[in-house]
Amino acid sequence: TVRTRFAPSPTGNVHIGNMRAAIFNWLYARHTGGKFLLRVEDTDIERSTPEAIQALLDAMEWLGLDVDEEPLYQTSRMEAHLAAAEQLLASGHAYREDKGGLGQGECVIFRMPDEDMVFEDEVKGTLRKKAADTQDFVIVRSNGTPVFHLANVLDDIEQGITHVIRGDDHVENTYRHIALYKALGAPVPEFAHLPMIINAQGKPYSKRDGDAFVGDFREKGFLGETLFNYLALLGWSPGDDREVMSRQEMIDAFDLKSCKSSPAQVDLRKLQWMNGEYIRALAPDQFAVIAHRELEKAGVDVPPDVGAIFDLMQARVKLPSEIVPACEFFFNDEFEYDEKAVRKKLLKDGVFQTLEKIMEIFQGLEDFDQETIDKALHDFVDQSGLGFGAVMPPIRIAVSGQQSGPDLAPVLSILGRDKVLERMQNTIR
Ligand code: GLU
Repeated sequence: TVRTRFAPSPTGNVHIGNMRAAIFNWLYARHTGGKFLLRVEDTDIERSTPEAIQALLDAMEWLGLDVDEEPLYQTSRMEAHLAAAEQLLASGHAYREDKGGLGQGECVIFRMPDEDMVFEDEVKGTLRKKAADTQDFVIVRSNGTPVFHLANVLDDIEQGITHVIRGDDHVENTYRHIALYKALGAPVPEFAHLPMIINAQGKPYSKRDGDAFVGDFREKGFLGETLFNYLALLGWSPGDDREVMSRQEMIDAFDLKSCKSSPAQVDLRKLQWMNGEYIRALAPDQFAVIAHRELEKAGVDVPPDVGAIFDLMQARVKLPSEIVPACEFFFNDEFEYDEKAVRKKLLKDGVFQTLEKIMEIFQGLEDFDQETIDKALHDFVDQSGLGFGAVMPPIRIAVSGQQSGPDLAPVLSILGRDKVLERMQNTIR
């Protein structure tokens, strides 16, 4: 059966590129009914603090990347790594060399075979390297610690990994790793190298281009499901035009063969759009939890009956941080006016007269529900010969201070007639 793994080096911040590799490994294991494992490559003692490891585990949990076996911590395998180096020395695949000069210990060097290398990458196809372009490399440092290549390969063997799915910055390493597998007499796994994640200029996507760490997105209120879905599409496509997909749909459709070899460009606006789609798919009570949290953070007094307001917000926002600015006017009479909008839309000739006429109409309505309001506004537009553009924006600015927002009729009916008339009157004065 297929066994994949995520093998991060914990540094405290989890880059989306690393998480993308985790997601692809997870999807492939779930698609094939195999196992998804975690190996913490924690040999950089300075950076691999308990907090860094916890941040990693939290990020995985948030994204729903469950593992099937206990994680393997690379530091626990030091003895096995050194024993394997001895074995490679004994079999002639490695030799000792004094690299550091006087007073420095010897290091162990792996002897690259004198032959051209070739392997079938599941994503990139056939990859080759001439013998002349390969070089022997250190596997144990002069201070006695094993080097990444040795540890990585031995731990993949220990964990029985059948498919190594990782970023294509590792392609050069893979030639060395394949030589190590062979020298150790272990079966060589399949390799799949995922395309680079790039910015709009085609350069590797980094912190300078915008949020790059999983934690950044989480803090901004992106949903874990959104980030999972978005990262799954960075270098993979289901082969049709589906973008927002359920986890099961992604598991069903995922395959290494349908991964792309060309670089994948990060588009944060698309990620935001996608988050809006996920917000709309939430159950109303799930959205209510998010909205309450935002409003409480902002110190807004939330009345008990806010279901209708939350419905309007859920239909519009892409991020939780948009909720308070978009709906504060419902709860607070002291809202701010969008100055530009006021100048453009309200301070035109005749606008105040129009508002006065509409106030009269509103006063005369039998009910102040959405439908009645909607009909009254339509009738007014028809009879007055004014366009919607001359009627709706001034009302909206008067009652909310804003230039755009949810449909006006539900907004007015939620606010209630008294408040609407009062706010319109205040605008005219
Ligand atoms: N710790 C390495 C990294 O994060 C592992 C690469 C791999 O083999 O997946 O780049």
